[in-house]
Amino acid sequence: MPTLAHERVDEVHDPATLEWARTTIERALSPRMIQHEVIAAVERNAIWRGEECVNLLAPEAPMSPTVRALLSSEVGQRAAEGHIGPNNRWFAGTRYIDEIEALCMELLKKVFRARYADHRLVASMIGNMAVYATLTRPGETIMSLSQPFGGHSSNRHDGPAGIRGLRIEDVPFDPVELEVDVEAFARKARAVRPTLVALGASMTLFPLPVRQMAEIVAEWGGRLYFDGAHQMGLIGGDQFQDPLREGACVMTGSAGKTFSGPQSGMIVWNDPKLTKPLTDAIFPALAATHQVNRVAALAAAAAEFLAFGHDYMAQIVANAQVLAKALNERGISMLGARKGFTRTHQAIADVRSFGGGLAAAQRLAEANIITNKNLIPGDEAADWNTPGGLRIGTTEVTRWGMKEREMEAIADLIHGVLVAKRDPADVRREAIALRRSFPRLQYCFD
Ligand SMILES: *Cc1c(COP(=O)(O)O)cnc(C)c1O
Repeated sequence: MPTLAHERVDEVHDPATLEWARTTIERALSPRMIQHEVIAAVERNAIWRGEECVNLLAPEAPMSPTVRALLSSEVGQRAAEGHIGPNNRWFAGTRYIDEIEALCMELLKKVFRARYADHRLVASMIGNMAVYATLTRPGETIMSLSQPFGGHSSNRHDGPAGIRGLRIEDVPFDPVELEVDVEAFARKARAVRPTLVALGASMTLFPLPVRQMAEIVAEWGGRLYFDGAHQMGLIGGDQFQDPLREGACVMTGSAGKTFSGPQSGMIVWNDPKLTKPLTDAIFPALAATHQVNRVAALAAAAAEFLAFGHDYMAQIVANAQVLAKALNERGISMLGARKGFTRTHQAIADVRSFGGGLAAAQRLAEANIITNKNLIPGDEAADWNTPGGLRIGTTEVTRWGMKEREMEAIADLIHGVLVAKRDPADVRREAIALRRSFPRLQYCFD
């Protein structure tokens, strides 16, 4: 019996889009035509986002053609649960899979200068869950950054930390200096004595005081872990701080953000005592078949990183600094102006005077400039849907080969949409032309 859209009050997704999908499926003359619809949507996206947009989403990065191709490799159909080695697997037939996975793991250790690494995290969220499973028990207290200061749900009530049943206290953050208020942190931490402090953020402009904070929590045997989801590439490329050497006991991160590999997770640590509990949390608790095609792509991306990571990441940061300054000069108020704007791939705009982050991001998207709305200091967590900020990232445009001059051009386009209120269709033509003039991916062997 067909179900009517208005009966689906339980759906969290946009009802109109789901209705479009149901209608498309029902109207198709055959399953084969339905498959064509799927492929057509993928193609529409590949042309628009892949060829015609100036993609400035901070968590995105384009993979090299080699890395991308490995995602559809034969090995993606193979099952390989368990640890590397002929006697460690549930399944036979893993001889070459062991080679792929061992290469990946050893490359991750090398890039991040760590004694241990794991390659089986299908997402960075899973890595954070492994950390909470290993280093905390339900009912204990942790401290993490709240969302308006860049904190991520994985370390808050609505993510893995909440699922673990932890009590969560905010790390005090100075909204003017945009850095942790270490004195306030010391007072609060000594009062609540957190088992674990999570540092690292999704909105990230400046390094964090890892060493000082790790020393404070060590007073009662507490530990600090660094969620480097966004900064992994910058850290591997030596363009940011080095959390493992500054006192973080574990570092997790996304492979698909600045690191520019396949979307998934990475985890590294140095303490041999953590190896068994962390690895037990990963397998068999949080990963079984872990997508060996993805592992192969990650290994290939790590090899690229050894060759190009340093220069690529340095240009990303240089571009973010130029773009932030150029936007600020054009009347768009940028965070961190007094401190050189940014030391990462991100530039954060306060767009409250342009109708807020949601409206700004939607207007820019009409002009093929892709950014995201973001909470900024001054917003409440409840402002989630209509925050005051806009987050801009330079990873992708840098990999297409854009440099300081193009950052000025991008600032002109953004100014055109937000400040000069130009017709988005006109700006779109210029955005497409800019994107088309950089057809070849850089910082790779292809
Ligand atoms: C993006 C992000 C994550 C989640 O990473 P995925 O790879 O998407 O699972 C976790 N923590 C922080 C701080 C992030 O920014």
